[in-house]
Amino acid sequence: MNAPDPASPIWHPFTQHGLAEPIPLVTHAAGALLHTADGGTVIDAISSWWVTTHGHCHPRIMTAIAEQAGKLDQIIFAGWTHQPAEELAAGLRAMMPASLTRVFFSDSGSTSVEVALKMALGYWHARGEPRHRIVVMEHSYHGDTIGAMSVGARGVFNRPYEPLLFDVARIPFPAPGTGQDTLDALEAFCKTPDTAALIVEPLVLGAGGMLVYGADTLAVMRDICARHGVLFIADEVMTGWGRTGTLLACEQAGVVPDILCLSKGLTGGAVPLAVTMASEPVFQAHWSGERARMFFHSSSYTANPIACAAANANLAIWREEPVLQVVTDLARRQAAWVEKLGRFCHFDNPRTLGTIAALDLRTQGEGGYLDSLAPRLMAFFRERGVLLRPLGNTVYVMPPYCISDEQLGQIWDAIGEAVISF
Ligand SMILES: *Cc1c(COP(=O)(O)O)cnc(C)c1O
Repeated sequence: MNAPDPASPIWHPFTQHGLAEPIPLVTHAAGALLHTADGGTVIDAISSWWVTTHGHCHPRIMTAIAEQAGKLDQIIFAGWTHQPAEELAAGLRAMMPASLTRVFFSDSGSTSVEVALKMALGYWHARGEPRHRIVVMEHSYHGDTIGAMSVGARGVFNRPYEPLLFDVARIPFPAPGTGQDTLDALEAFCKTPDTAALIVEPLVLGAGGMLVYGADTLAVMRDICARHGVLFIADEVMTGWGRTGTLLACEQAGVVPDILCLSKGLTGGAVPLAVTMASEPVFQAHWSGERARMFFHSSSYTANPIACAAANANLAIWREEPVLQVVTDLARRQAAWVEKLGRFCHFDNPRTLGTIAALDLRTQGEGGYLDSLAPRLMAFFRERGVLLRPLGNTVYVMPPYCISDEQLGQIWDAIGEAVISF
C-alpha cells in the first residue's frame, strides 16, 4: 500500500515518522468497510479506534448532521443553549441511570475524564473537606491529557511528562484469584481521609491490553466507595454504547456511578463529543449564589450543535432499532470464532466481553506495547485487507456492530494465519 507522502506536513498520533511506515489514504467508508485511494478496501476490525458503533456513515446520523449544519453551526454554551443540546441532555437522562441527573458536555474522552476529576475535587472542596487523592486501577487508560495520563498507567507513553503528573493511589488489577487483593487495597485507601474518588474502566481495561475482570469485583468496589463516601467515577468512554454487550458495562455489575464519562460511541463514532454525567449531590456541591463556587470548566466547542445532532440520531437508533439484539448476536459470533480458532492453533488467554474478543500471541520479545510483534502484525493484517492494531502481542477484534458474517470471517481467517505464521 502507499508509502507515506514525504511532502505531507502532518504529524500523526502514536506514529514514529522515522520508521516511514505506510500511511494509507482513506477516501470513503460505509458500514465496516474502508475504501483507500489506491482502489483497495479494508475491513475496519477495530471500529476506527473503538468509536464506530453502528457502522461508518450511518444514514440516520449523516442526515442529522447535514440537517443541523443548515441551521446552527456553533454557539457559545456558557449562558446560552440550543435545542440539540437540550434534546440530547433529556435523552441521556431518560436512557442512563436515573440518579445521574446532570449532563456536562465536552469534546473527547480525555476531556470527559478531566471534567470528572475536577467535579470530584470540586465536590470535596465545596464541602469544606478538601480531598485530593484519586484511586486508580493498575494498567488503566483514561486519555492523553496531563490529568488523564496522571490517573492512567505509567510507562513509555508518558515518561517525558512524568514529573508533571500528579500522584495517585494504585490498586492491583483483579486478575482471576486476586480480586480480594484489589478490594483490600481499595478499602485501605478509602479509609484514608484524603481519598476523593476512584476512577475505573468497568469490566475491561482497553488500552491496557483488553484485560477483562469480573462484574462481581466491580460491584464490591462500588460498594466499598459508597460505604466510605468516596466518589465512584466510571470511565465508560470505550465500554459505553453496547460495546460490552449492554448499554453500559456498569449494568452487568448492577452498579451506578456517581460520575459517568461517555464519548467514543456517543455520536455513533461520527464526530467528536463527550459528556460527563453527574449525580445530584455532585451538582449541588457546586450550586450556590456565589460565582466563585461555579464549576470552572469550558471548551470553545462545548456541546457543538452539529455534534449534538449526531448524538441525538445515535440515541434515536438505540431507542427505535434492535441495537442490543445486534450486539448480542455479534458477541455470540465473536465468541464462536475464538472458540473455533482455539481448536486449530495455540495462543494464550482468549477472552471475550460482548463485542470485544482478544487473545495473546506467544512472542520472542519481551511483550508490552513496544514489542516488535505489533507493527509486524499490523502490516501483515493490512496486506490482507484488515485494519487491526495489536496492543503489543495482544490481538483484539472490536468491529462495528453491522459487520457481516463474511467480513468477520475474513478478519478471523487473517488472525488464524497470523497465529500460525508468527
Ligand atoms: C479512548 C479512551 C479515553 C480517551 O478518549 P479520547 O477521545 O481519545 O480522548 C479515555 N478513557 C478510555 C477508557 C478510553 O478508552
